[in-house]
Amino acid sequence: MMSGRRPLIAGNWKMNGKPLEGASLARELRSALQDPPAVDIMVFPPFLSINTAVEALKGTDITVGGQDLHPEAGGAFTGNVSGEMLKAAGCKAVLVGHSERRTYEKESGELLAAKVAGALRAGLQVIFCCGETSDERDAAVTQQVVVSQLNDGLGDLRATEMEQVVVAYEPVWAIGTGRVASPEQAQEVHATIRSWAAKTWDSGSARALRILYGGSVKPTNVAGIMAQPDIDGALVGGASLNADSFQGIVCYGGR
Ligand code: PEP
Repeated sequence: MMSGRRPLIAGNWKMNGKPLEGASLARELRSALQDPPAVDIMVFPPFLSINTAVEALKGTDITVGGQDLHPEAGGAFTGNVSGEMLKAAGCKAVLVGHSERRTYEKESGELLAAKVAGALRAGLQVIFCCGETSDERDAAVTQQVVVSQLNDGLGDLRATEMEQVVVAYEPVWAIGTGRVASPEQAQEVHATIRSWAAKTWDSGSARALRILYGGSVKPTNVAGIMAQPDIDGALVGGASLNADSFQGIVCYGGR
């Protein structure tokens, strides 16, 4: 870090916690982060905990987002939730393209582009996730994989729309495994992502784009990651489920 970009630390709660547990985690975060440093803070609860989290975080600078959305605004899509519904529930952002959804829900690049469009239509910020598997890293195709995921999901946006997008680089082999990418490994891919943005739009868009690292971020390893010039924050899974460890990450491992 950094070059005028405000850091963002985001917590992805995944499919953890019932609504009352979400409310109590949100309340714990509220008291742990009473005096937050100058970073943006977001949490992404499961759909059913969005309301209680929004309530518990009212009046704070911690914003709430959804973990997924359907591309359409509404209609006969049983079991789905639209960007407009998330927005009405108090969400400011939504995750798109998380590797768990790419893998388990077989989400394609085309579907992800439609989800991005739906999120922007609803007035939500997009946290767009990308990252290579360990086989792809071993085959030395990391950069190509990431750039093609980005082109598929975001390539058709205008520069002004990109202002509402944050990219999260999350190597699949580092998510939930305890195997964190080294700061240098992460920085190398972040630099590629920033130059992809410069080539796709312009250097101003690239300079403004926030790029988060995700994959086993903990209070003990966050400082080295945040010290890299193209890393603007973190998307945190497991360690965001505990208020103390999330606070430790928000404060880059120290106060
Ligand atoms: C994630 O789910 O986006 C993630 C990075 O998880 P973890 O921090 O648990 O690796």
